Amino acid sequence: MTSLASTSTYRANLLCEAVARLGSEAAFEVLARARALEAEGRSIVHLEIGEPDFDTPEHIKRAGMEAIEQNYTHYTPSAGVAELRDAIADFAARLRGMEPWKRENVVVGPGGKPIIWNTLSALLDPGDEMIVADPSYPAYASCASYLQADLVPVPLLESRDWQLDLDELSSKVSNRTKVVVLNSPQNPTGGVLGRDDLQVVADLAQKWGFIVVSDEIYCRNLYGDDFVSIAQLDGMRERTVVIDGFSKAYAMTGWRLGYGIMPEELARTVALFNNNTFSCVATFVQRAGVAALKGPDEPVREMSAIFRTRRDEIVSGINAIPGFSCKMPKGAFYAFVNIGSITHDDQRFASFLLEEGGVAALGGSCFGEAGRGYLRFSYANSIENIRLALDRIREAAPRYKTI
Ligand code: PLP
Repeated sequence: MTSLASTSTYRANLLCEAVARLGSEAAFEVLARARALEAEGRSIVHLEIGEPDFDTPEHIKRAGMEAIEQNYTHYTPSAGVAELRDAIADFAARLRGMEPWKRENVVVGPGGKPIIWNTLSALLDPGDEMIVADPSYPAYASCASYLQADLVPVPLLESRDWQLDLDELSSKVSNRTKVVVLNSPQNPTGGVLGRDDLQVVADLAQKWGFIVVSDEIYCRNLYGDDFVSIAQLDGMRERTVVIDGFSKAYAMTGWRLGYGIMPEELARTVALFNNNTFSCVATFVQRAGVAALKGPDEPVREMSAIFRTRRDEIVSGINAIPGFSCKMPKGAFYAFVNIGSITHDDQRFASFLLEEGGVAALGGSCFGEAGRGYLRFSYANSIENIRLALDRIREAAPRYKTI
């Protein structure tokens, strides 16, 4: 067999320079290491990956299977089938207490992540500034840096239950700011942005003319007050892109289905990126999405109630371990734990916990500089496994050596 290196077309610099600017999601790397340890016979409790451990609700699975049987197996328009786009436009508006969006505002993709990528690709020129919370979901920064936009981090404050540092935000906005990314409920902190803070961002958006990309994918994983979307605030519908999807609310991570809701001109461009990359989402998956939105909502509420019990368990357990402290998360399914009194080398501590303690978690600095000295635990796991993880952490932590 001819190896790539020996063909005449091989070049030393096979990959383009832009590749060096891509980030990646550490959760998938830690998961791979955890699986390798399991293959050696080790027992690992998985608190690294952000996906509901529940099965997809029955009526949704049935709709997907029936769609295959009925031959919904062909290409669709790149923005998605009309029935799903209409269902999203209606459902998403009702959830947020707003007038319905139009079909033309909705673009469907294989997960929220590609819609984030395609939206930022449609918005950012090299040298544009994008403001993003620190810590935050790494996909935003990876895409912006690939596009050669300048990333401007604004800290989330633990002291304010993970609200944005609004003074710093106000001081960093300028006429170079093209996009501000919000994520509420947040990955990795579990924080939820309040109406007053969102109003400050909305006022800045209207003064400076930037677009808000509001990632609301955890909006059904909420444990306290009603959800507030910045799109609800006066004048913001026209300058907000709402990112949402089916992965977290309906336990559909592997189906790959998400969407963005945005002004029509932008939606047409995001659909053009879809057209140029994946063409369209699997047709039977889109049919299952319609069933999710139009079918019974109880499974979503039941899953959310279970997450709440697990949250209470992990947060009280973690706070009882010397050196660990955690604010009560208000949404998503993550506990963001301060281990600063033990170490600031969170990645080394996470790898110690995995190798020596049998608990997989992520170092907070995987989500940005401000995450240094924190760990992210995903509590998308059973109460029994959460208790087992707490026992293991309690036992292993005192054995951690800082040098
Ligand atoms: N946004 C946030 C904040 C996330 O945490 C995730 C997944 O972890 C996504 C978007 C993307 O999810 P998906 O592509 O499965 O819809």
